Amino acid sequence: MSKKSKENDDIILTGQYLGVVEEYLPDKQSTYIRDGQIYATKSGLITLDNKKKQIEIKTHQEKDRKIVKIGDIVIGTVLFLRQYSIGINFYTINRKIHFNSYYFGNIHVSQIADRYVEKISEAFQITDILRARVIKQKYNEFELTTADKNLGVIYADCVICGTPLDKIGYNKLRCQRCGNQESRKLSSDYRNISEVLRF
Ligand SMILES: [Zn+2]
Repeated sequence: MSKKSKENDDIILTGQYLGVVEEYLPDKQSTYIRDGQIYATKSGLITLDNKKKQIEIKTHQEKDRKIVKIGDIVIGTVLFLRQYSIGINFYTINRKIHFNSYYFGNIHVSQIADRYVEKISEAFQITDILRARVIKQKYNEFELTTADKNLGVIYADCVICGTPLDKIGYNKLRCQRCGNQESRKLSSDYRNISEVLRF
C-alpha cells in the first residue's frame, strides 16, 4: 500500500493525502496531521525542501510573487508623470494577477513608442491602465517599454470628468460625455480586452 511520494510543484487539492510525519515536517498553515498522516488544508502547489524535509502548499500567487523577469508582460496603473519618465504600479505579470503585492516600474520617454515622443503627457496620464514589457531590473524597480503595437494604454478615463474615453483614431481618444479630446500611446486592443483590469 505504498503511495507515490510527492514531488515539487505537484498540484494538490484541499484534503489530499501528502505523506506521513516520518517522511516530512509539515507546514502548520497549509497542512494538518491525522493519525500520523499529513493532509492538505488548501489547494495549490507543493513546495518541498528536501534538506529540511519540509512540506508546504503554496498557491500560484504565493509561488510567483517575487518573480519578475526581463521580457515579462505586465499590466499596471500610471502613478505619476515626470519630465522624462512615468512611474507605474503593476499587479499583473504574464496574465497572472498578484493580489498580495505590487511592483514599481518606470518608462523612460525614449521607451514609450518607436517614434519620437515630445511630451510625456501626450502619451500617458495618471490613472491610465497600460500594458508594458520589462526590459531591465534596477534593484527592486523595473524599467519598462511600451514601444510595440500590443503595448501601451489599454484603459483611460477623461482627465476632466472621469468618463472612460473612446478611441476615435490613431492614438486619439474622445470623451462622449464632455467632448474632451486627448492623445495617448494606445495599445492595439485599447478597451477591447478580457483581462480583469480594476483591482
Ligand atoms: Zn469627459
